[in-house]
Amino acid sequence: MVYIILNQATKSFRSGGIRVIARAYSTTHDADLVVIGSGPGGYVAAIKAAQLGLKTVSVEKDPTLGGTCLNVGCIPSKALLHNSHLYHMAKHDFKNRGIEVGAVNFNFEKMMEYKRNAVKALTGGIGMLFQKNKVKLVRGVGTIINPKKVEVAGEKGKEVINTKNILIATGSEVTPFPGVTFDQTQIVDSSGALSLPKVPKKMLVIGAGVIGLELGSVYQRLGAEVLAIEYIDTIGGAGIDGEVAKTLHKILAKQGMKFKLSTKVTGVKKEGNNIKVEVEPSKGGTKETIDCDVVLISIGRRPYTKDLGLANVGIALDDRGRVPVNNKFATTVPGIYAIGDCIHGPMLAHKAEDEGIVCVECITGMNSHFNYDAIPSVIYTTPEVGWVGKSEEDLKKEGKAYKVGKFPFLANSRAKTNGEPDGFVKVLSDKATDVILGTHIIGPGGGELINEAVLAQEYGAAAEDVARVCHAHPTCAEALREANMAAYCGKPINF
Ligand SMILES: Cc1cc2nc3c(=O)[nH]c(=O)nc-3n(C[C@H](O)[C@H](O)[C@H](O)COP(=O)(O)OP(=O)(O)OC[C@H]3O[C@@H](n4cnc5c(N)ncnc54)[C@H](O)[C@@H]3O)c2cc1C
Repeated sequence: MVYIILNQATKSFRSGGIRVIARAYSTTHDADLVVIGSGPGGYVAAIKAAQLGLKTVSVEKDPTLGGTCLNVGCIPSKALLHNSHLYHMAKHDFKNRGIEVGAVNFNFEKMMEYKRNAVKALTGGIGMLFQKNKVKLVRGVGTIINPKKVEVAGEKGKEVINTKNILIATGSEVTPFPGVTFDQTQIVDSSGALSLPKVPKKMLVIGAGVIGLELGSVYQRLGAEVLAIEYIDTIGGAGIDGEVAKTLHKILAKQGMKFKLSTKVTGVKKEGNNIKVEVEPSKGGTKETIDCDVVLISIGRRPYTKDLGLANVGIALDDRGRVPVNNKFATTVPGIYAIGDCIHGPMLAHKAEDEGIVCVECITGMNSHFNYDAIPSVIYTTPEVGWVGKSEEDLKKEGKAYKVGKFPFLANSRAKTNGEPDGFVKVLSDKATDVILGTHIIGPGGGELINEAVLAQEYGAAAEDVARVCHAHPTCAEALREANMAAYCGKPINF
């Protein structure tokens, strides 16, 4: 007897002496584009593709849509940051403003429930957007079988999708710490820290980058003693301007967060209910053991491409585990594309989204491009930090002649009146042409204000262009205008 296996959903049947066995695919679909992963990169790309007329299938392995950003990243962290900030204000600041509220307490379980509801509303919203835009959702782990076929292993068995194009948007995962197992209650990564059962007494944060500072701030505001340990001698992660990092360090220290910089963690051990963290100076020196009841390990994330079947199509990852792509997000295999955290560039939700849009536009023949020089970064501490473009350190390294325009929030009428005078705006512009090269904000609403600077930079504005735009008064955005004024003519008005 000869056996032939068919890759389609047909029943087995006899044909002469040949027994034909169909592989048990419960369903097959045909698509113009299969997007694997429904994080901010994948779901936005899928919707845009459908809007551009492509028959689009989104494949997601997790029970909820939205990826890291909506489930265990941007959204839950901002829910906790916002509400812990309100609590902190009510407890420590309201009385200075003439607001009397009596004893102020927080209900941690309720705060967590609020966070869960925020996540639920937004992840559910993607499903509705898929329906509205006619994106077909297939649940399960997607594996690329060949450039025209994706197999999805889900609860209902295996489904196969025949497709013209494949977009990989499988995102990233937490970078493990060698020798340490996360129990997600006392030794936690960022996902564990977003769902702690109670506020720790003493929390040690390994890594004073964006995620460490944000989640450290949450628990510090709720009463935990927080110590952040950082290998290098500065905080805030890659790309932050040195002067802004120093100011943020000072402000957070004043708020009560403690720091140990230039320090390396050599071991994390659980002893009874206690966690012992061994540290030593980064450049070597005396070892020390620090006790805490929760340790958050936030040393970064790495691309996630497990079970994707890249070997089936001969796509080799680069030295950092990323999928190599060109400026149209095409991999080395025709018809297969990749975007978001699993490719080069900063791991940010808005970067993944914009890559997704540009990628599918290019698939449909448009000549779109993505400007990596105008991607904003934000740290949602209080005050917020926002930046776009080059830092002073970058410009010095490049040997570029530049001008600096600075304006403190202390001299901004809105910030001063609101009692939020900490921080400044710093604009860096080309010495010869006045074109803006970078904008750095630490201050009230910095995460919103930075978008005006991004717009200016995207349009190739000079500092004078922004300085001559009429800004509403009184607003914190006037500080951005005045910093641009300082950059182009050397003098702001109000300082
Ligand atoms: C605590 C925290 C806070 C953050 N805060 C911010 C912030 O404020 N602003 C910001 O811009 N960024 C923030 N980020 C980063 C942001 O979440 C990521 O950059 C973003 O989610 C990346 O989007 P993505 O679409 O590339 O991948 P992801 O969001 O990681 O989504 C990938 C999806 O692919 C799915 N998948 C993977 N493999 C398969 C497969 N084989 N088959 C089917 N499905 C698969 C996964 O289940 C997942 O749903 C934060 C991250 C963390 C951890």
